[in-house]
Amino acid sequence: MRAGLLSKLLPDEQLDSVFDLDVERLKARGIRGLVFDLDNTLGPWGFTQLDERTRRWLRALEAQGFRLGFVSNDGGQGREALRAALDGDGHPVVFRAGKPGTRGLRQALEALGLPPERVALVGDQLFTDVLAAKRLGLYAIRVKPLADDPHDWGLKLRRGLERLVLRWASRQRQRQRQR
Ligand SMILES: [Mg+2]
Repeated sequence: MRAGLLSKLLPDEQLDSVFDLDVERLKARGIRGLVFDLDNTLGPWGFTQLDERTRRWLRALEAQGFRLGFVSNDGGQGREALRAALDGDGHPVVFRAGKPGTRGLRQALEALGLPPERVALVGDQLFTDVLAAKRLGLYAIRVKPLADDPHDWGLKLRRGLERLVLRWASRQRQRQRQR
């Protein structure tokens, strides 16, 4: 793999979950908007309702001055209630976002009225979320997936590749430290 592509697969931050977002550090970086992936990031795969803790956390982030958006590759069928809960306060919700393409993200940024360098993408997948974010110049935060679809073989393959990429990156960092 070329170093250029690899660098676009590597998140700027890795967290256990969205609840570990460091509000002050993000503000200090100039981040004013947060765009969230849905499945495995804000709820388990295919979730149709936000749990109370997540709902409260999103509200707290908004109260801190962040503009929020949501971008999913899912088609959104059967998730009308979720969409209503998310966009009820005027947050953009983009389904069929086509990550790692950048169209869905660009749509969200436009609705937020923020340039890419002011926005962090929060998602669980390197080959969709992180790659789309880095291609567009967003700050990329990767969280650990909550619960994968057990029948998604393509995803299983991507998870294996993710592990390879992250292992490669941590070895690179070790080598740099030793120099
Ligand atoms: Mg996801």
